[in-house]
Amino acid sequence: MNRFWSRLACGITPYVPGEQPKDKSYIKLNTNENPYGPSPKVLEAIKGATDEGLRLYPDPTSDVLISAAAQSYGVRKEQIFVGNGSDEVLAFAFMAFFDPGRRILFPDITYSFYPVYASLFNIDFNLARLDSDFSIPVKELLKSEGGVVIANPNAPTGKALRVSEIREVIEGNPDNVVIVDEAYIDFGGESAVRLIDEYPNLLVIHTLSKSRSLAGMRIGLAFGDSELIKALDSVKNSFNSYTLDKLAIVAGAQALKDGGYYKDINGRIIATRQRFVEELSKRGFSVVDSKANFVFTSHNSISAKKLFSELRERGILVRYFDKPAIDNYLRITIGTDDDMSAVLAALDDILEVFCYN
Ligand SMILES: *Cc1c(COP(=O)(O)O)cnc(C)c1O
Repeated sequence: MNRFWSRLACGITPYVPGEQPKDKSYIKLNTNENPYGPSPKVLEAIKGATDEGLRLYPDPTSDVLISAAAQSYGVRKEQIFVGNGSDEVLAFAFMAFFDPGRRILFPDITYSFYPVYASLFNIDFNLARLDSDFSIPVKELLKSEGGVVIANPNAPTGKALRVSEIREVIEGNPDNVVIVDEAYIDFGGESAVRLIDEYPNLLVIHTLSKSRSLAGMRIGLAFGDSELIKALDSVKNSFNSYTLDKLAIVAGAQALKDGGYYKDINGRIIATRQRFVEELSKRGFSVVDSKANFVFTSHNSISAKKLFSELRERGILVRYFDKPAIDNYLRITIGTDDDMSAVLAALDDILEVFCYN
């Protein structure tokens, strides 16, 4: 802190992303990136757009991307907003739909960016306590004062709500916006996008970072009633006219057109998850039922903290959260079959050294 800092800058506690280490090469299973590359057509599209045209500003409406999203999701263009990663879309949504003084509501264990945005924008919040099995208590999310935010599947647990439960939350908050962050929906959850025609207070947020293998391009989308989209456009155009660059716009559009490729790689990730969960269970781990590209797991005799550091020493990076209620869990991203075999071999080694000697 420094005397030149604004009160805002002094008062905030920033989000800390999973590390992107440079000291050596790790099997990187700490930030839920896709282990498979983007579709070859996406790479071609990026190369095709890499020319002297980059001297010009990109299309401020990202029309090519929004048209591809409309086609791919079967919604109208007026029902779509795009931004520089879903983190930015979330930030704009907090500004567009939540007011200081009217408490919003989200689960106590969820994506840790939500409280960060709330404090950045001075929005008060209440936390709904997850059930002991990490289920989101739907009944606790009704009648919020100022809005609701849910990650579905939830992070970092991977547990999903059914669309009927999402519907209950939306109907229980008719005067407020309900944001459903579906960052991991393509790994087995049931999307609420199809509900946007029914509910003017529903905003569903997607990202191309995980299931579309484009974390490096920063592309996020929001789906909702056209009146909600107008508010997002209005906030965005008061902040930065060009949140998406030219390469991101063409890459995102191509990724949305290439559904078959992504269905294939994400199907592989789901199959790998299944095998990995079975193998973990054989080794004394309990694993939360996951509909995401990661698992949340705890061992019956070695602490998660110990496992985290031992895995790291063996060249495997996973995510550990030193927070009450989840400090004995690891979040492990699902990589390729080879990645997960390496994790299991490392775990066998660790268990042998620490448990059974
Ligand atoms: C990864 C993640 C995001 C952020 O995605 P970007 O589009 O890369 O900003 C948002 N919400 C949740 C729950 C996530 O896990």
